[in-house]
Amino acid sequence: MLKQHPVTRRRTVLPIAITIFCVLVYILPAESFTASNYGPFEEKTLKYYIHDSVYDHDSAWPDMIRTAVIHWNNTKIVNLSETSFFEDADIHFLAGPTSSPTYLAQTNSLAATYTYLADITINKDRDDIGDGYNDPTKYDLPSIMRHELGHALGLGHTWLNTDYLMTPTLRRGHIFFIDQDAEDGARYVYEPNYTLKVQEGGNDYHYGSGGHTYDDQSNYVATNTGPNGAVWTHSSGWSRAHAGTVSFINNYQSRVWHHFKGDSITYAFTMAWNRGVARVFIDGVDMGVVDAYAPDVRWQVARTWSGLGNGRHVIEVRRDSSNPGDKYIDVDSFTVNIDTADTGAHEETSPNAKKIGHWKRFASNEASGGSVLYSNQAQDALTFTFIGDKIDFYYTKAYNRGKAAITIDGVYRLTLDQYSENIQWQQKISFPGLGSGVHTIHISVLGEKQSASSGTYIDVDVFKVY
Ligand SMILES: [Zn+2]
Repeated sequence: MLKQHPVTRRRTVLPIAITIFCVLVYILPAESFTASNYGPFEEKTLKYYIHDSVYDHDSAWPDMIRTAVIHWNNTKIVNLSETSFFEDADIHFLAGPTSSPTYLAQTNSLAATYTYLADITINKDRDDIGDGYNDPTKYDLPSIMRHELGHALGLGHTWLNTDYLMTPTLRRGHIFFIDQDAEDGARYVYEPNYTLKVQEGGNDYHYGSGGHTYDDQSNYVATNTGPNGAVWTHSSGWSRAHAGTVSFINNYQSRVWHHFKGDSITYAFTMAWNRGVARVFIDGVDMGVVDAYAPDVRWQVARTWSGLGNGRHVIEVRRDSSNPGDKYIDVDSFTVNIDTADTGAHEETSPNAKKIGHWKRFASNEASGGSVLYSNQAQDALTFTFIGDKIDFYYTKAYNRGKAAITIDGVYRLTLDQYSENIQWQQKISFPGLGSGVHTIHISVLGEKQSASSGTYIDVDVFKVY
């Protein structure tokens, strides 16, 4: 039940010190994308301290740390200044053993409260850390420090590009700078009004080719945190959700984003009584709002923005300021270059008709194509995605039929009552004037009926696209 979603979640003040490790190693399993759930510092003006152990191990290391600090200061997102007093510092640089001898360095976040301290430890037991710019056999310490400072400031790892600063795997003799991805992540956690821009350059960019769907809990969908440390709830066990999961949040100005390469992007979400208004940005351009409120629950409601031009883009879904305080935004999936039906007739068996829930087929010579799909389970739904300006939806009226909510492109259109005293095949309801581009019609079984009906069945016979 959606209403069991918690209204408040653990955060803000942790009762005792909790140590979170983030380590830089050769290979680390995927865990998060860019903005981590470590939480940012409350302040943007921070102090750091270089411990004696760093000077003692290698006299060249303190200046390499300072170089990394200067690069983060140059972003103007944060301002780090050095202190000679350990107790004054928010971030401590140390040289010492790390949790594993394979690590280059590790960042421990000391989350005694929402405002935390970070200890960055460079592995002194390795002899291959140093000036990677002039010595290709060395892992470059300024690069390692830029990366670990990213963690300390609240960033996780990225899987977009192995050349990006927050890749889990740095390489010998390779210099990693603060790139657009890391900067986006840091602005995301420190600047609530920052709107993401599409990234330029780079290679090995992760993207979906035709029709690829990314679940809300994929590494490529950034629901790890919101501004001011607000945490998305990653929820599973929903049989009608994509991959059984949805993620949701109701903190002010919470956001989710997804980088992709393609010509269109489809945002799928859940409509429900505890859902509210989200504003969508693509490549930093305001695309308007999506209102996910509905008195009933509708799964995998989809809206597509198409004609973006093949290339790199970023979609950002942000909780809108008009959203009432108790209403969530949610994300179920993003689909890049969704498959679409063209003009013409498409039976309910079309691959573009997606069954959500427990639909069954009923064969009859009276039906278009010789069969219909039917369900009487509330919250079951069927979606059909097409390109055209108008769609006709054909169904059967009968004595045991109930009501369905019809939603197109995330906007509720009407409640369709399929009841009639006598069976009437191939009844039609028309939705003209949709405008060019990709559209999705969503038919959701309400489990409701008028009193004369003997059942709550909804059926789907054929779609005709114009
Ligand atoms: Zn790392």
